[in-house]
Amino acid sequence: MLLGELKNPVDELPGIGKASAASLAGVGIRSIGDLLKYLPRDYEDRRNEVPFRSIEYEGNANTTIHVVEHQYFYWRGRQTLKVIVTDDSEPATLLCYGRNFLASTLIPGEEFRLFGRFQRRRGDLQSSSFSVERTDRLSAEFGKILPVYSLTGRLTQKLLRSAVAASLKLYSHDLEEELPSQIIESRRLLRFRDAIERLHFGTSVEESKAARRTLAFGELFYLQLIMQRRVRARRVRRKRDRDIDHSLFEKTVKRLPFQLTIDQLRSLDQIHDDLQKPTAMMRLLQGDVGSGKTLVALLSAVDVASGGGQTALMAPTELLARQHANTAAALLEPVGIRVALLTGGITGASRASTLGAIRAGEVDLIVGTHALFSHDVAFKSLSLVIVDEQHRFGVMQRLAIVEKGNAPDLLLMTATPIPRSLALTVFGDLDTSTIKSMPHGRLPIRTHLALRGKEEKVYHRVRQELEAGRQAYFVYPLISQSEFLEVKDAESMYEELRMKVFPNHRLALIHSRVSEEDKRIRMMEFIRGEAEVLVATSVVEVGVDVPNATCMVIEHAERFGLAALHQLRGRVGRSTTQSYAYLIYDSDITEIAKRRIMAIKNSSDGFEIAEEDLKMRGPGELTGTHQTGALEFRFADIVDDFDLLSSSREDVMNILADDPKLLLPDHQAIRSLLSRCPPYSNETASAG
Ligand code: ADP
Ligand code: MG
Repeated sequence: MLLGELKNPVDELPGIGKASAASLAGVGIRSIGDLLKYLPRDYEDRRNEVPFRSIEYEGNANTTIHVVEHQYFYWRGRQTLKVIVTDDSEPATLLCYGRNFLASTLIPGEEFRLFGRFQRRRGDLQSSSFSVERTDRLSAEFGKILPVYSLTGRLTQKLLRSAVAASLKLYSHDLEEELPSQIIESRRLLRFRDAIERLHFGTSVEESKAARRTLAFGELFYLQLIMQRRVRARRVRRKRDRDIDHSLFEKTVKRLPFQLTIDQLRSLDQIHDDLQKPTAMMRLLQGDVGSGKTLVALLSAVDVASGGGQTALMAPTELLARQHANTAAALLEPVGIRVALLTGGITGASRASTLGAIRAGEVDLIVGTHALFSHDVAFKSLSLVIVDEQHRFGVMQRLAIVEKGNAPDLLLMTATPIPRSLALTVFGDLDTSTIKSMPHGRLPIRTHLALRGKEEKVYHRVRQELEAGRQAYFVYPLISQSEFLEVKDAESMYEELRMKVFPNHRLALIHSRVSEEDKRIRMMEFIRGEAEVLVATSVVEVGVDVPNATCMVIEHAERFGLAALHQLRGRVGRSTTQSYAYLIYDSDITEIAKRRIMAIKNSSDGFEIAEEDLKMRGPGELTGTHQTGALEFRFADIVDDFDLLSSSREDVMNILADDPKLLLPDHQAIRSLLSRCPPYSNETASAG
């Protein structure tokens, strides 16, 4: 059977009862397959003796000890056991926090094998993390390499190790090979069964690492195979012939109050070429926040409209959809392009009439949220689909869109650039256009950090900006007061800022619980400058474009992700005036939160930040693909395993070039795996 088919519950294993099964469920392990896929986070090498004396400051000891005596000390008001032991080289202390029961095992005078992490404290060698085993029994855990797993709750290494060992014993000989044999040979991989065994219990750390690489290769191989097949399916479909009258485009560009940047022009050229090709465009337009992607999207729609095609522009929020619709109407209606807005908030008669117009081809550009692709929306001639902030949508949502038209061209836009490795993996293949240059005259945003407690200084700087006629955002992690967290929220701070901090200015409040109608009104007030301060949650994170706003204040910056912080900061710096971002954070925060804040402070380059983000978070979250289940890598690391990504991709390309339908006997195993494994099979279905 395939590993993916090994669905038997863990309590089927000897020694695993209800309680152990519940502990395992705490780390997501429910089936025996889950157990075998549980990647050790490290390995402990217990093969060689490491006496106490050889530890200089800190390190693992692996030695045979005699127990000398018991002592007790107070820890958190409790009597706590410490055991003095000695090996042949030196004495050491075992601190038994919460483990006083060890007194009955570690009896003075007796001998044990011991493995533990030791540190020197004022000359004394101490450990609070160790395991022991009597020397008069056959060793279960010594003299070998042991896997070390991530644990939560009551789960112990011992339980996991024995459950994995039992599963391997019962099932590993039944596991089918997942890769064609010629690939295993040419890439010097392990057989699947061996890889799973050695991943957990290798005879050396190198062997276990080689096992992980084999499994990672398999994951990357299948993902790319699925993506490539889908790309091929799209490529063979012919889209409708289209005549583009580029003069309409020229006419629109002339109406702009500024010059397009070189990168905008180049991207538009590339899109223009794609639109005229017989096969559907698959293009990613990446450009940092504020680089002017919306305009590229709208001008692409102009070309399409000139040939009688419709364009759908999808944004992740109603707020953003409405803003795009307004921008589009102002720019495009004067040249005769008809724009409509369709969101979930638009209902009843007005929705019905918009749907009618879309079906009849009476509108050329339809802007909306994912509501654009609900079942009752039928397009007359959908030719181009543009997805703004594409990473906000799941893979499946993106696919649903493309199914709408007759092989429409697809333009994905993102401000969080996708590293090449991810683009290859997640999309199989994607042409990219990049906007690097910012519009002329922009100044880099100045980013300042402030500790909580020093807000007044920041408020003062903002007040000066407001007095100079500029506007500001204040962003909070919570909508309203929480009884559990000591964290500022948008509602209370709106009151405080309005009454105490900026009594002479007008403020507006926006968050996701404000009705769409009120959101629209308040946003309009901010756009028109009637409200000078917008107090908000991260609803303003994406896309919002108010060039006169020059201050972005983020309170509790430690509670926002890296991409969110970069996006939020990108709300300012949208004109030729100097802009500022203030990140206010708590001093008592985690290391990772500190790293995020420093990364934002030190870089304004979205690409750099995205790479950093990827390292800190893993690929699923960044791309929105965790929703599909197909991209939850167990073994592969998309950044570190770039070499495997390239080599597996090469193999996939070769296989598909020789045998696109996977009919050769050698490829039968692949075919069968694709059809039998759930996360893969629904993917292949859409690949046709
Ligand atoms: P993003 O790439 O983040 O989506 P937007 O499309 O929202 O950026 O554009 C940011 C701002 O820059 C908008 O106000 C837009 O009108 C303006 N803009 C776009 N292109 C140019 C340009 N070539 N010169 C000057 N301003 C521009
Ligand atoms: Mg945008």
